Amino acid sequence: MINIVLFGPPGAGKGTQAKMLSEKYGFNHISTGDVIRGEIQRGTSRGLQVKEIMERGELAPDELVLGIIEEYIKSHSDCAGNIFDGFPRTSNQAKEFDVILERNRQTIDVMLALEVPDEELVKRLKLRAEVSGRPDDADENVINNRIEVYKKQTAVVADYYEAQSKYIPVKGTGTIEEVFASLCKAIDSIIARKA
Ligand code: AMP
Repeated sequence: MINIVLFGPPGAGKGTQAKMLSEKYGFNHISTGDVIRGEIQRGTSRGLQVKEIMERGELAPDELVLGIIEEYIKSHSDCAGNIFDGFPRTSNQAKEFDVILERNRQTIDVMLALEVPDEELVKRLKLRAEVSGRPDDADENVINNRIEVYKKQTAVVADYYEAQSKYIPVKGTGTIEEVFASLCKAIDSIIARKA
């Protein structure tokens, strides 16, 4: 089993790439953002707890997200691999994630970090707003806040994986296919190393 953290700021292309990678390699893909949006839509207690937080572009509480991840890990113990998209997003989430993984006799193999300049992110998120229907894409202030939150709270998560020699930066600009090819190259090298 190979566990991959797909990392990068909002608008970096994590969701698009995670979907393509999971199809190519037969991996499962979990986006904590998608799970939370589903909970909001269904009006669950978790959803009610985070609706306004998400609409402001802030982060959901660590305990809530860690609960989602633990449920996921327990129910996906037997598969070729997992892609974690949008998680972990704080240093505390990263540390607690390792505890959860260890409890389930698993580990993270690699963090693939998509690198995209800010101006490009804003451009992409505004475009995405036209099709995504996401309230947090529709407002430029919320977009900017999400990028700020990423810089203040999330970017440091890369250091956590770098310290474990699990960090691989990947150029996130260019065509979707070019970025995909770079990600595949990195994954193929991890697979070869594990074989
Ligand atoms: P995303 O779909 O990854 O852009 O996430 C959308 C929103 O969901 C974020 O702005 C947060 O409000 C919330 N969210 C998703 N993943 C996390 C996480 N790992 N920690 C905290 N909040 C999260």
